[in-house]
Amino acid sequence: MKTKIRKILMSIPSEYKETFSREIDRENLFRMVAVSGLLLISETAIILFLKEHVLNTGGVVMDFIVFILVSLPILYFVYSQVDKIKMHIVKIVQSTFLLGILLFGIALALVPQSELISIHIYIITVYGIAAFIYLMPIESALLFGGAFLIFFFLLPYYQQNPDVLMILRVNALIMNITAWILSRMVIGMRVRSFIDKRLIIKKNRQLRRMAQCDSMTMLLNHENIYIRLCEEIDKAKYTKCPLSIIMIDIDDFKIINDTYGHLVGDKVIVQVAEIIVRTCRATDYVGRYGGEEFIVILPETNHAEAFSLAERLRASIEKNCFETSDNITISGGVAEYTGQTPEELIMMADQNHYSAKNSGKNRIRTHNVIN
Ligand code: GH3
Ligand code: MG
Ligand code: MG
Repeated sequence: MKTKIRKILMSIPSEYKETFSREIDRENLFRMVAVSGLLLISETAIILFLKEHVLNTGGVVMDFIVFILVSLPILYFVYSQVDKIKMHIVKIVQSTFLLGILLFGIALALVPQSELISIHIYIITVYGIAAFIYLMPIESALLFGGAFLIFFFLLPYYQQNPDVLMILRVNALIMNITAWILSRMVIGMRVRSFIDKRLIIKKNRQLRRMAQCDSMTMLLNHENIYIRLCEEIDKAKYTKCPLSIIMIDIDDFKIINDTYGHLVGDKVIVQVAEIIVRTCRATDYVGRYGGEEFIVILPETNHAEAFSLAERLRASIEKNCFETSDNITISGGVAEYTGQTPEELIMMADQNHYSAKNSGKNRIRTHNVIN
């Protein structure tokens, strides 16, 4: 089990280690604040209403209330600022509080030894911490080990019966070891759930990408480039900014497929897609509209700017060295939004692209007066 848990702890990818640590610190601090609040209320109620029934614990309960009164605002402050405070300071605050709680647990078990031979409060404190607070194995070993040593050496001052002394020490030892095992199981489960959550997030992101993108070129697929176009048209209507699109088709692609085979054809499509993405701005959207046809959406771009970008694109593809010995060229049609529906805008760009094909290919056409 030991190696299994160690493996689990080490299985947190290094880039997530800090996130995990921050997450458990936040949860721990929240629990510490909640438990402190409850303890403050319950201990104050005991002092106020049940004083005569409480075993003789000297001033320990009063000291405990003072300890909680001091700790509560500090814990709350660290909890509310946990992302901004240095991690080692957060750890020191938590460890100090837990050690304080353990010491009070020991004191409340030791002080009334003359009246009640029991270490119930110490047991509750140790198991409570093991079950509710996420501690790394080394932290819990230091905490429980340290507390046990303190208990071990202080007990003879309060309990003189050697048999009882031995029994209580053995019980405390067994309890601390089992609490440490419990604490390791708790942190192990937390690590497992953290890793599972990260995996689900990663898979969901992959699935979303697969649903939105064309798997060959990783460009937006037909449906999604259309959705983006609708959104950009809505934005252009509202902002009154220009918006243009370019429809691109690879020239004589059937010949490329027939001459070099479909696998080489696929590579050409991927490379052309890469050149388009490289040439466009980060704010533009590039989609694979069909087999070897692409659409580029250019927000805040008029037809003249779109035409010059399309020309640059055409020239880069013409210059690029593909696997084929023949040059690869494209033809394109540009259209600017002037109140059309998405279908009408696509049709306009398509007509211009056909006009480019009909006038000899390897050229860009627009309905405006540029060419
Ligand atoms: P044009 O210059 O008029 O565009 O001529 P073209 O030969 O390119 O004609 P068209 O655009 O109609 O042909 C597209 C060809 O692209 C037909 C189809 O077999 C091929 N194609 C479509 N999708 C893929 C693909 O994913 N991989 C490969 N290798 N070929 C594809
Ligand atoms: Mg085509
Ligand atoms: Mg073609």
